[in-house]
Amino acid sequence: MIQLSSLEPKTIWHYFEQILEIPRPSKEETKIRNFLTDFAKKHKLAYKVDEGGNLLIQKSATPGFEKKKIVILQSHMDMVGEKNSETIHNFSQDPISPKIEKNWVKAIGTTLGADDGIGIAAQMAILASKEIEHGPVECLFTVDEETGLTGAMALKEGFFKGKILLNLDSEDEGELFIGCAGGIDTIAELKYKTRIYPNRHVSYRIEVSGLNGGHSGDEIHKSPGGNSNKIINRFLWKGSKKFNLRLASFEGGNLRNAIPREANAVFAIPESEIAGMEIYFKEFSEMLKEELGSAEPNFKTKLVKVKKSETVLSKKSQERILNAIYACPHGVIKWSDSIEGLVETSTNLASVKFIDGHKVRVVTSQRSSLNSAKTDIADRVAAVFYLADATIKHSDGYPGWAPKRDSEIVQITENAYRELFKKKPVVRAIHAGLECGLFLQKYPNLDMISFGPTIKGAHSPDERLDIPSTQKFWDLLLEVLKRIPEEN
Ligand SMILES: [Zn+2]
Repeated sequence: MIQLSSLEPKTIWHYFEQILEIPRPSKEETKIRNFLTDFAKKHKLAYKVDEGGNLLIQKSATPGFEKKKIVILQSHMDMVGEKNSETIHNFSQDPISPKIEKNWVKAIGTTLGADDGIGIAAQMAILASKEIEHGPVECLFTVDEETGLTGAMALKEGFFKGKILLNLDSEDEGELFIGCAGGIDTIAELKYKTRIYPNRHVSYRIEVSGLNGGHSGDEIHKSPGGNSNKIINRFLWKGSKKFNLRLASFEGGNLRNAIPREANAVFAIPESEIAGMEIYFKEFSEMLKEELGSAEPNFKTKLVKVKKSETVLSKKSQERILNAIYACPHGVIKWSDSIEGLVETSTNLASVKFIDGHKVRVVTSQRSSLNSAKTDIADRVAAVFYLADATIKHSDGYPGWAPKRDSEIVQITENAYRELFKKKPVVRAIHAGLECGLFLQKYPNLDMISFGPTIKGAHSPDERLDIPSTQKFWDLLLEVLKRIPEEN
């Protein structure tokens, strides 16, 4: 086996190598937590575990730095278990086997778990050290970051004391993260009435496929027109004005946090209008191809004749549903004024499903780094569906982390980076959710920043950790600890 601890900085690689030995898929964090509590006992450090399974290990200041503000160092204990199909690996039992390829550490056939094992390793290295200069430190290790953020969600008030938090779960060295989006789902249900299938009608199914889709946080700005539900609905809405088109079903999208890539609808049309409708379909498809252009190169539409359905929707129900979906916004609602290129607020029209034979469920999902803006867009989407007599449910939602460009820890970290590496770091926020957003629920005054070494291909067997950036990450972390001011 190769020795990672021959790499620099030795201490962090030494602990990372130990962490690789411990299976730790999401929701199975007992082994890694026991490993960390054993470590705390060995080093005579106080620790506690909360009901959610999160672990806190406390270390007092190194002599002379007792007056510094308490700093929370935070990572997550779980990792994503993905492997190549030919690799035999049980993530609940087997250790990860690392290899070194040029400047990268990789795993053999599986995810590496540098997300967030390298964060854990850095915490352990600091907890174990006698030389590093730091004030009082609280190391927070959360559970289940990768599959539901349930650890961060379960955190209770008073579990830790610090008011500054360094999240060690970022994947781009040279970038400092200072904000993320909060989210909420808005689910509308519209009841509909049916009618017997009309005489002398034929049934067709229209399909839309091949759209890019993507994550509704990271990619919402990329496909403004490419929502399969919106496209099918547009065809049906206009089609209903032109022809005696009668909707039988509509189905599109899947996950609430994915931009829908595929959708289909079944409708009936009088025999006498078939020719006109087929021309309309052709023209519609060409128009959409032109609108979406090179951004959606694989966009496809298809029209096929299908078996007659038993019923169709009443005209009134059909109109209500198509109007509501048409009016419902999708995409970027507002760009950030303070951070260039950051989507501040967005909404995703995620899925449309006919359920139980008498209602349509439309699932939408809103995000914003500003909580008030998140509520506003969720209410706006709800209002559209209220106009169509829908019933509305919202998920509990989670708060955003609004970027504060001039916060104390942002200033400290930015200056430390610039002075250490003679280079300006990129200060960013993201439009997806992070644990940091959830921490604010119980600790609204936390001053936070997130940084880490460079990890590529996270969540896939291609995951790899950049060796030189790990040294820089470590140097920055120590420098920031050194610069934490005293309690005033
Ligand atoms: Zn992570």
